[in-house]
Amino acid sequence: MLTAREALPSKDGGSPEALILDGALANEPDGATAWNAGLRPAPAGRRPADPHHADAPEARPSEDSDPHPLILDGGFATELEADGFDLNHPLWSAKVLIETPEAVRAVHARFLTAGADCIISATYQASFPGLARYGLSDKESERLFRFAVELAAEERNRFWRDPANREGRRRPLVAASVGPYGAFLADGSEYTGDYRADDAALAAFHWRRLDLLARSGADLLAIETIPSAREGRVLRHLLDRLDDPPPAWVSFTCRDAGHLSDGTPVEEVAADLADCARVRWVGANCTPPKHLAALIPKFRAATAKPAVAYPNGDGRWDPVRKVWETPAETADLPELALDWRRLGADLIGGCCRTRPKDIREIRGALLADA
Ligand SMILES: [Zn+2]
Repeated sequence: MLTAREALPSKDGGSPEALILDGALANEPDGATAWNAGLRPAPAGRRPADPHHADAPEARPSEDSDPHPLILDGGFATELEADGFDLNHPLWSAKVLIETPEAVRAVHARFLTAGADCIISATYQASFPGLARYGLSDKESERLFRFAVELAAEERNRFWRDPANREGRRRPLVAASVGPYGAFLADGSEYTGDYRADDAALAAFHWRRLDLLARSGADLLAIETIPSAREGRVLRHLLDRLDDPPPAWVSFTCRDAGHLSDGTPVEEVAADLADCARVRWVGANCTPPKHLAALIPKFRAATAKPAVAYPNGDGRWDPVRKVWETPAETADLPELALDWRRLGADLIGGCCRTRPKDIREIRGALLADA
């Protein structure tokens, strides 16, 4: 196994900040129809950032002065399950990506139509060791990661080509999902951060995928569902070593109105990330929606960065029984989203159990209020 030092490339003086988005995949020809098509070369990397690029003003995420938050998509697995896929597999979304990419494409399209300004690639649960267990070589896994981002970008491009879809919209972005180490373990520890892996093992696990996704042409990096302060610190360390990555958000899972899943006060992780220029937003996802209004000010008390907020729909996930417990009352997500926005959330969407209808309603509420 690699030590952390071996896993990390040397810092090469790359740009400390990369806030201009380049829409690198906008002009890629369509054609990502299967993850292993193999004949077409993968994108060579992102184009150099060009502030004069015609797409730049639309593609750029909101600045603090922008009255419009960026609407994220909703629960990816929830949609696949609604489509009849059995996701009771350690690699759920990656498995669908490999076997039925059209289903992944359809979910992206649904959220774009519902009003998402940013869709998240189906890479959350894909990892080199996880895919190796599934029989993929490292090269094949690399191709699958790139394919997932290409697929999302193609769906975004397809959506944007239709003038009817542009009305009142900004050109949607593609964020590459980077899930926690626990998502690879698939034993429920992604919700507690209670890993046996030490920092070096966590760094080795994350580095290759993070580096690959940072060069995949995605507009943003979605470092999401992080359960512990320790994993957050490891990822921050790795982000600092990437060569000119796209802007990132780091989003934690929280167990109550003030603490991460591992019990760390949220102010502590927000402070850890406060001086990391590569992290543009900090906040919570995969967390009960009722906690967000209390969490956001705590994140923001420790950093000037705007917040990201995309909690689950109603219910509590039981990672042992692998079922959702339905709550007695239902959350009014659009109403709650208005509060999150007022408290300083710039990226707002949904996680598990949120559907395109929820995203449409959240968007409607936020834009009516802006
Ligand atoms: Zn979730």
